[in-house]
Amino acid sequence: MKKNTIYFLVLIIFSNISLSQNLNNKKILVVWGGWEGHKPELFASHVEKWLISQNADYKIVNGLDAYDNYDELIKYDLIIQSVTLSQISEKQINNLIKAIRSGVGIAGAHGGLADSFRNNTNYQFMIGGQFVAHPGGKVKFKVKMLEDELTDGLNDFEIFTEQYYLHYDPNVKIIANTKFNGETYSWIKDVVIPISWKKMYGKGKVFYVSIGHDPDEFMIHKDGWELLTRGFLWAIR
Ligand SMILES: [Zn+2]
Repeated sequence: MKKNTIYFLVLIIFSNISLSQNLNNKKILVVWGGWEGHKPELFASHVEKWLISQNADYKIVNGLDAYDNYDELIKYDLIIQSVTLSQISEKQINNLIKAIRSGVGIAGAHGGLADSFRNNTNYQFMIGGQFVAHPGGKVKFKVKMLEDELTDGLNDFEIFTEQYYLHYDPNVKIIANTKFNGETYSWIKDVVIPISWKKMYGKGKVFYVSIGHDPDEFMIHKDGWELLTRGFLWAIR
């Protein structure tokens, strides 16, 4: 083997070690629920397989009861949420926001993170965006990776699913995007909207990917899954 090949292999081994070490002594909460059309339980089961592969200390819960108790919530290092629409109580949202501001990370995909609790602007302020439309329903579009440590080595890909049109915070760091072709609404032709972003909220990290109407998309589009799981690792306290 050539010297730089060996160097490359050592680099890969060490980078894998450092990724799995990120989950050592870390506690992860997976919260699923809300509108069943997004198959949140299936999403949680894909995430669970990954968490097992990472030797993570995790808990998976259906519904928002886990947000009832701040002292319990603050023990987690990352919350992975898949709850479309639904309602959150005043107490629950206050606990969640306080936990993220104090350093707990939050991450998720599609409507499970950016179309939860529609009437709660405090929640939207934290996440950094809100779904508003998916012109044409399911359509074919391109996911374009932008330069960032989380997209390093990942490829752009074409996907057939809902192309989320989001209202988003200019304070997010966009790491992947998509362009609308204007076939459904001519006035949004060539509008570029984020597919993925990362941001801070107080001491907490927020990570989002907009694909995933069907959680199995992440099993088909491996670069999408890789981006999502890198985001999980990045968002951990
Ligand atoms: Zn959807």
